[in-house]
Amino acid sequence: MDAMLITGAVQKQAWMDRTMPPVEHVRGDIWSIPVDFSQAPVRYTFAYLVMNGAGQSLLIDPGFDSARGRSQIAIGLERAGMTIESIVGIVSTHLHPDHLGMAEHIAGQSGAWIGMHPRESALLALYDDEASVTEVDQRWLEEIGVPPERMGELLTPPATIRYMQGLARTTLPLEDGDFLPLPGRSLRVVATPGHTPGHVCIVDEDNEIVFSGDHILPRITSNVGLTSTGTRRGALAQYYSSLDRMKQWPDFEVLPAHEYRFSGLAHRADDLARHHRERAQEIVNAVGSSEGYSVYSIAQRISWSRSWESLHDVNLRAALSETEAHVDFLIDAGKLEIGGGEVMRLVRRHAAV
Ligand SMILES: [Zn+2]
Ligand SMILES: [Zn+2]
Repeated sequence: MDAMLITGAVQKQAWMDRTMPPVEHVRGDIWSIPVDFSQAPVRYTFAYLVMNGAGQSLLIDPGFDSARGRSQIAIGLERAGMTIESIVGIVSTHLHPDHLGMAEHIAGQSGAWIGMHPRESALLALYDDEASVTEVDQRWLEEIGVPPERMGELLTPPATIRYMQGLARTTLPLEDGDFLPLPGRSLRVVATPGHTPGHVCIVDEDNEIVFSGDHILPRITSNVGLTSTGTRRGALAQYYSSLDRMKQWPDFEVLPAHEYRFSGLAHRADDLARHHRERAQEIVNAVGSSEGYSVYSIAQRISWSRSWESLHDVNLRAALSETEAHVDFLIDAGKLEIGGGEVMRLVRRHAAV
């Protein structure tokens, strides 16, 4: 199995220099166009333009919508010798705004279809009912033991709900095994739930390329179970099997949505699985032999790349979602047990994960 090799050397340098990477011709009829997302630590999303030699193109993960992002897409298209009208389809690997955000704008200009997995579309539809988003949030936060004084910052803000309501709706549901409708190209949809329930990767077997969205990134371990609403049951188990699934293309070059492109997919998939196993062990240790831990109190006791005290709002939500995904997995695996009580109470059963 090949070790990881950074194929996007210029992108990696830009990442380290904290600058925007350039628009790049990856190879064949594939271009990478970085789109601004400077309000988040990932800083940018790669939109990938895939052409078919007959004047048509697809855009995978158009990125966050902003004036700057729109002009970056326009410049990228120009560099590739294409126009916005050439875009016949837009794929969003999942519903997060740094992927789906600009789909509406581009579809409005080009008439392109917008493709996403139905599970993501279903999650997005939940935002249509603002009251129920708050209700689902509240129930979830209580269940995982969030103290009342921290509820406020963890509820989805009304502005976010309205923003999500404004995101593009899918016009082409993408199911596992589908091929994207771009004549002359063979681009297969592979369902990779975990980061979100309906995340998909796109596999280009002819060019030995995987468009990995947020499923597999070279440096960051993407959050598991990060749905903004609704249930997270089974997210980690799904993520593990989605990592395994991608290993059938062990040496394909990975074109991720963030950071930089690389090869050595199987190697990276194993790394990510190992990271989560270590995390699980840390949780089991944190629970110890005592009873009465909630997801919230476990999250407080385990390590985070930034300190627990610095986690607020969406970052705290992400930390809690991920802890819950782990706890849920450990319960299913028989490593932890839920006791009674109003919040989830956990008892350690086995020391080794
Ligand atoms: Zn994401
Ligand atoms: Zn992302």
